Amino acid sequence: MAATYNRVALIGLGLIASSMAHALRWKGLAGEIVGTARSAETRAVVRELGFCDRVCDTAAEVVQGADLVVLCVPVGAMAAIAAEIAPHLAPGATLTDVGSVKQAVIEAVGPHVPEGVHFIPGHPLAGTEHSGPRSGFATLFVNRWWLLTPLSGADDAATARLRGLLEGMGAHVDEMEPAHHDLVLAVTSHTPHLIAYTMVGVADHLRRVTKSEIIKYSAAGFRDFTRIAASDPTMWRDVFLTNREATLDILGRFTEELFVLQRAIRMGDGEQLFEYFTRTRAIRRGIIEAGQDTAAPDFGRGVPAPEAGE
Ligand code: NAP
Repeated sequence: MAATYNRVALIGLGLIASSMAHALRWKGLAGEIVGTARSAETRAVVRELGFCDRVCDTAAEVVQGADLVVLCVPVGAMAAIAAEIAPHLAPGATLTDVGSVKQAVIEAVGPHVPEGVHFIPGHPLAGTEHSGPRSGFATLFVNRWWLLTPLSGADDAATARLRGLLEGMGAHVDEMEPAHHDLVLAVTSHTPHLIAYTMVGVADHLRRVTKSEIIKYSAAGFRDFTRIAASDPTMWRDVFLTNREATLDILGRFTEELFVLQRAIRMGDGEQLFEYFTRTRAIRRGIIEAGQDTAAPDFGRGVPAPEAGE
């Protein structure tokens, strides 16, 4: 595949950035991949792993001459980085991000973007509970959605070029209004994560069941909660701080539904429980049919990374 950008600069070198670097290499989508991370430790690990052609010590340095810059840091860190790189961005470059929340990123980054730079916010709906530069793999985005939330008046050619890169990594691309993105993700990702964190917290606080019993007898449902609740605390703190309204809206609705089920259990209303679970089962079937998951117990996460050059 022909390179879509001459130089791609990745800022933040964790799960998402390292997966992008592997995927770009695998598909030959970038002439050169450059990167930087906050800590000297991460930069040293990336130099050793070699998934970037060049690792720079600062964000200001890494964006120089790049025609695509991708912000791959937690949402709460984006404003400071945007301020640092703004004077160094090349005219005509595209700036995108992978943040899990879109309105807050637009408010944080938008004011720093210089005239002539195309800012196209984005969010890959792909991830694992692992973080850091060693956790990335080239197939992370294959068959996953990558949502773009272009601002009004965005340059169509720049958006199409970015879309080409994302599709080249195997993603399906859709465009959405930022506020709608945040509401959709509050339902599909943010609130479910909060519920997982809560359930694991409940198990932890329960005194009548020992920790070793929880570990020993943990069934699939609880194991999935613990996997989700093992996700990066900084990233998830920032998600809830920056997608506050939508998450609170969905949590309110969740609480109402929970009370309905709680009442049905108390009243012994089997019919209501059965009808409810039948409806939710149909939603699960819809997700599998849409190709967004597999029926396998490991949720398709055991997919190995492809060989280089495959
Ligand atoms: P990660 O593996 O934890 O890596 C985060 C990177 O950002 C690291 O290189 C870290 O540097 C750097 N960083 C952290 N705090 C920083 C700060 N205050 N200033 C500068 N750099 C900082 O994270 P990730 O999972 O790749 O997530 C990155 C972004 O992708 C987040 O915005 C997240 O919302 C979004 N996202 C994540 C997922 C997911 O499932 N993980 C999915 C979709 C989107 P050091 O290594 O030097 O500490």
